[in-house]
Amino acid sequence: MRILLSNDDGCTAPGLRCLAEHLRPLHSLEIVAPDRNRSGASNSLTILNPIRVQRHEDGTYCVDGTPTDCVHLALTGLLAEPKDMVVSGINAGANLGDDTLYSGTVAAAMEGRHLGISAIAVSCVSVNPQHYATAARITLRLIDRLQREPLPGDTILNVNVPDVPYEELRGIEVTRLGNRHKSEGVIEAKDPRGRSIYWIGASGGEHDAGPGTDFYAVQQKRVSITPLLVDLTRHSALERLGAWARDL
Ligand code: MN
Repeated sequence: MRILLSNDDGCTAPGLRCLAEHLRPLHSLEIVAPDRNRSGASNSLTILNPIRVQRHEDGTYCVDGTPTDCVHLALTGLLAEPKDMVVSGINAGANLGDDTLYSGTVAAAMEGRHLGISAIAVSCVSVNPQHYATAARITLRLIDRLQREPLPGDTILNVNVPDVPYEELRGIEVTRLGNRHKSEGVIEAKDPRGRSIYWIGASGGEHDAGPGTDFYAVQQKRVSITPLLVDLTRHSALERLGAWARDL
């Protein structure tokens, strides 16, 4: 497979490096990734400034832009060769439930889908991952499966892998997104000159996290695979809203 690898943790991140090492012997691989950590960048696209790209000695393109910029550039002119698949990750940290809305890892995969290529976002469920190789091996299996039995080009798979040795995984489960309680409040502090600065608070704890959700699967040490849809329309509300809007 001709694979474009990107991420949101930056082009030197250990998760990306580990995945590249696993992919390179088996696939044609090119890496286009942000030049720094852009976690939380979501689908932002840089349209008001030019974007600079540095090509490193090992061939990696490091981009002064967001994950979405990286995949967009890569697939629309930066790279000579077309790609069969976009792989994003391995992210340092979970992308479960609502996280997917903020995630640059998922956004890089989404951009692949916007450009008609099937895409996988892979995350290691841990604050300080120790077992990227486990997620890398799972990714290889997924790619192999997709190669033998392709899914439609608009498919995005959001994959979360428990941070355990490969042998300790308890299987693979297809899940829906759960959700979290609302996030912690913003944290105010002072800069050295006495001016207020703010830290966005931690994301909330698990709320909808029962059987069938991505949260539950990874709690049970199973790999969670969630197929994502970008259509944000609340289809179930269309009819009722239509009646409500008639009297506007
Ligand atoms: Mn990240």
